[in-house]
Amino acid sequence: MSVTWGLIAVAQSAAPPCKSCAEWNQPQAPFRIFGNTYYVGPHGLSSILITSDAGHILIDGGLPESAPQIEANVRSLGFRIEDVKLILNSHVHFDHAGGIAELQRISGAQVFASKWSASVMKKGGVGRADPQYGVLAGIAPVKHVRELRDGQTFRVGEAVITAHLTPGHTPGGTSWTWRSCEGSICREIVFADSITPISADGFKFTKSREYPNAVEDFEKSFSFLEAAPCDVLITTHPEASGLWDRIEAREHGVTPDPMMDSSACRHLAEQGRSQLRERIAEERKE
Ligand SMILES: [Zn+2]
Repeated sequence: MSVTWGLIAVAQSAAPPCKSCAEWNQPQAPFRIFGNTYYVGPHGLSSILITSDAGHILIDGGLPESAPQIEANVRSLGFRIEDVKLILNSHVHFDHAGGIAELQRISGAQVFASKWSASVMKKGGVGRADPQYGVLAGIAPVKHVRELRDGQTFRVGEAVITAHLTPGHTPGGTSWTWRSCEGSICREIVFADSITPISADGFKFTKSREYPNAVEDFEKSFSFLEAAPCDVLITTHPEASGLWDRIEAREHGVTPDPMMDSSACRHLAEQGRSQLRERIAEERKE
């Protein structure tokens, strides 16, 4: 009782109303990205379904209010939400993890998260070491979260997915890689976590008692993106990797498949590096 009240109080006093939420949660018809990989999120927040005959994997749950839409999208593709065996997460902010508690409840899936993300999920709210602590709405607590380790592989039927810790945006950020095939053609897919250095006022990535290794963490994440085999890049916010332009081009029959871009992960890393460089320069001026 007191815990629930505490979270509501924090959410009301500290977090501003979410200006982008209605836009992020615009309905989006689900579609196949490649092979057994589908987009099932609302228009502004990626949620990815990877299917197999023995059950499915779902990455990210959008906002709390996105959960019914994600469930409906899974069903309209002809799959059952009850067959989702595993729910994974990019980072534990309300716009990517907010719907996970509800999606877990209706699916009965297991939730795995990095050690830091799991600790936030178990308690709900926002982690104290989060660069955006104090300005974000918290998440609802998630039950029975299990911790994963860097490089851990998960298998549901023939779907196999690997976790890569990509911290910086949050201390527990995680990206995901897997291979999807259509007949004999297979593609390496990367679901990249956010790598933007965004923070509450007063937080310094170069000097934080709560998050002292933030800059090294970002470096690790950029290195991962530069090295990862990456035929198809999907980002937490779809427009960060030009998803809608690529889909439109694909619908117009553009060849080769505009979803394919083996330089996309390196470009994202480059962008991240330059944003961090600017941010560090600003912090040094202060
Ligand atoms: Zn975030």
